[in-house]
Parts: sequence; C-alpha cells; structure tokens
Amino acid sequence: MSAYSSVAELLALSDRLDLPLWKTVQTVDCAGQSMTAEESFAAMQNLLSVMRSTDKNYDPSQRSVSGLSGGDGGKMDAYIASGRSISGPLVGRMIAAALRMGECNACMKRIVAAPTAGACGVLPAVLIPCGEALCLPEEKLVEALYVAAGIGEVIAQRASISGAESGCQAEIGSASAMAAAAVVHLRGGTKEQMANAAALALKSLLGLVCDPVGGLVEVPCIKRNVIGAVNALTAAEMSLAGIESRIPPDEVIDAMREVGDMMPAALRETAQGGLAATPTAQNR
Ligand code: SF4
Repeated sequence: MSAYSSVAELLALSDRLDLPLWKTVQTVDCAGQSMTAEESFAAMQNLLSVMRSTDKNYDPSQRSVSGLSGGDGGKMDAYIASGRSISGPLVGRMIAAALRMGECNACMKRIVAAPTAGACGVLPAVLIPCGEALCLPEEKLVEALYVAAGIGEVIAQRASISGAESGCQAEIGSASAMAAAAVVHLRGGTKEQMANAAALALKSLLGLVCDPVGGLVEVPCIKRNVIGAVNALTAAEMSLAGIESRIPPDEVIDAMREVGDMMPAALRETAQGGLAATPTAQNR
C-alpha cells in the first residue's frame, strides 16, 4: 500500500516532507522497495535510457508480423525534415516519436510500459523532444519520470491503468496525465500545476474506448499515442498559463473509473466493438 492514494495526499505529503514532488515519490518508492535514493535514481535513469535507445534505433523499414503497422514514424520524420509541418518542429518531433515507439512495440522491440505497453509512446514522445527543445540535463528528465510515476500510482490505485478494465482512457488517458505532469516539472512549474495538468489531460480523454483491431496492440493504439502526447503538452501549457481544471484531479480520476465501470465489455479490449467491429477491421 502506497503512502498516498490520492493526488491531494501526494501533494500534502510533499508539503509535510518539505520535498519537491519528484523527490516525495522517490522517497516513498525507496521505502517501499528497500532501496537507496541512488539505486532508485539509477533504475529510473535506466528506463529513460531504454526509451532513448529504442527511439534512436527505430527502423522505418520494419513491419509488424500482422502487417498492420510499421513505417509511419519514418513518414513523419520525412515530413518534418521537408519543413512543411504546420505544427512546428517540437510537435512534429513528438508525433514522430510517439509513432516510432508504438511501432517498435508492435515489432516486439524493447519498450517501457509506462503505464502499459499499448501506451508506451506517450511519455518518451513528450520527454525526449521537450528535453531537447528546452536543453535540459538528463537528471531533470529522470525527475520528471518520478512525477509521472506518482500520478500513475494514484490512477492505478483509485481507478485503473488497464484497457480491459476501463477502456483506453485508462491506458492512453493515464499516460497522457502522467506526461502532462512531467512536462510541468520540466518547465519548473509548481506541484499544484503538475496535478492540475494531469487532471486537464485525463479529462480530455475521458470515455476513450479500447477497441484494438484483431485484438492486437497496433490499430488504433499506435496513433492514439500521438494524441496522448500532444494532449499532454496542451494540458501542461494550459496549467503553466494558470488555467485550472474546474474538477479536481482526484475527482477526474474517480470519474474515469466510473466511466470505465459503465463501459460495455465490447469496448474493453475484447475487440468486439468500436473500430475493431468496423467492416475494414473485420475483413482485414
Ligand atoms: S485501444 Fe486498448 S489496447 Fe490499444 S492502447 Fe488503447 S487501451 Fe491499449
């Protein structure tokens, strides 16, 4: 059992310990796993290295066994390189990174399930390009991973991070909330802004169903990583601008759980509804 089961408790603990949010998450994690802060930091740094290495070694010629995915990350890279991107280099790089990581997962490459394999592209697609754009040291990105982990921990405890349980809102939605809080950390925002960014990101993806074509984590999963990443950035930007979620973070998380509970089984990873039930998906 974690020392916190709500975002409010996490923020209060951070106040009580007089530690930044990332350090609070790390402190609780170390106590729970009987490891030192240095060991914990090294383990988190290793996760970031895996993200970087998989991103770097993406092969645009590779296709998944099903043939449903592969190559889109390369198309996006080429489009960005052409200078024709409307959204600019940062968002373009984020889109490409999310596609690349999702495709790597479909091609059985090493990924970091943060919080799940299906949503593995969101955090790296936000952290790596934003870290580069802001010229941040590696340590800052590792700290941001702790912030993301803290938000993910609360969502897992209060609601779910499983598409089979609560739909894609629990996977891509949770990853987006985690990434939004992480971006606020990268930009030096307050812990309240981090929590608020998570709420803004999660509420924007509330109700998202889990409908993988053929039951494979490829369509629509890979492209949903893109929306999860961009949604995280916009939520963080709003939060840093002082825009608040009218519904507090914990209530948004609870609402996500309730929406998940109301979702029919056909829309919870069974591949019986949504996009999985379309004629094209059925006739593939
Ligand atoms: S559609 Fe389902 S399997 Fe795909 S990422 Fe979303 S929750 Fe995961």
